[in-house]
Amino acid sequence: MSKYWSEAIARLTPYVPGEQPKETGITKLNTNENPYPPSPKAEEAIRNFPMDRLRLYSDPDASALKQALADHFKVERNNVFVGNGSDEVLALTFMAFFRHPAPLLLPETTYSFYDVYCNLYDIEYKQIPLTDDFRIDLDQYNEPNAGIIFANPNAPTGRALTLAEIEGLLQRNTESLVVVDEAYVDFGADSAIELTRKYDNVLVIQTFSKSRSLAGMRVGYAIGHEDLIAGLERVKNSFNSYPLDMLAIASSVAAIEDQEYFEATTQKIIDTREWTEQALAEMGFKTVPSKTNFLFTSHRYVEAAELMGFLRANKILVRHFSKPGIDNYLRITIGTPEEMQLLVDTLKKHPEIVTLD
Ligand SMILES: *Cc1c(COP(=O)(O)O)cnc(C)c1O
Repeated sequence: MSKYWSEAIARLTPYVPGEQPKETGITKLNTNENPYPPSPKAEEAIRNFPMDRLRLYSDPDASALKQALADHFKVERNNVFVGNGSDEVLALTFMAFFRHPAPLLLPETTYSFYDVYCNLYDIEYKQIPLTDDFRIDLDQYNEPNAGIIFANPNAPTGRALTLAEIEGLLQRNTESLVVVDEAYVDFGADSAIELTRKYDNVLVIQTFSKSRSLAGMRVGYAIGHEDLIAGLERVKNSFNSYPLDMLAIASSVAAIEDQEYFEATTQKIIDTREWTEQALAEMGFKTVPSKTNFLFTSHRYVEAAELMGFLRANKILVRHFSKPGIDNYLRITIGTPEEMQLLVDTLKKHPEIVTLD
């Protein structure tokens, strides 16, 4: 606190990302990073990048990346917006579309950055509880609103909505924008991008951080009707002309073009997820069905906070949210098969976890 802070800044409660430990030898299953390296084509793009070009500013429009994304998703370039991670795309989205005199509707349990942006921009919001089995029930989003946002699959629960459910919402909610945050969609859910061709009230946001192994590059994007993209460009160009650097553009273009590598690595994660869910079940965990690269799981006897501390003492990081309703769950990122074997072997050493074998 300083006398130079404005009142609005003093009132903020910033988002707290998962720990990035400085020490080595830690198994990191806490921030949903991809355990596999980025595409070798992305590495090549960075290695071959002519250093001298860094003297110049990067392309403010990142046209090469927009074109690569447009080709990949079979949309036009003016249906694509890119930003410095999807967190930045989300921040600009809230500013561009959700500042209306009605509350923004969002799930009570979802990505915890959304209410941080609401507080930053003074957006009124209403949180709608999930069902008892952690589903988003879109039938409960039927009141006047400034917009609707949710993650699909949702975080930290891992559950996915169907496209039919989302399309139903778009048909009912015609006066405001629906934003679908698809950070995890590539691990087994259906993308709403095809709905952006038919509806002008939906914006889909995706990221290179999870399924493309490029969290450190900070590249995210939105796909939607060209008028929505034009709105985002107005905000972006009032804020930062060059949010993507040249290396981010070059490596993400190479990554999006390497479909084979993308499919192989996402499938490995899906297979490891199924294996891990089974192994956890045999130890007395109940896991929410996941379409993501993480599992949201609770043990029948041992409290989640206790297990998180036990794993931490054994150099394995997982995420725990001390929020009522989900505070007895752990969110465990899917790593390599070896990392998940280590997780399982470590949990088996906990004195209160009894296994049948
Ligand atoms: C990881 C994540 C993001 C942020 O991704 P970046 O592109 O790395 O900023 C956005 N939304 C959800 C739901 C996420 O899990």
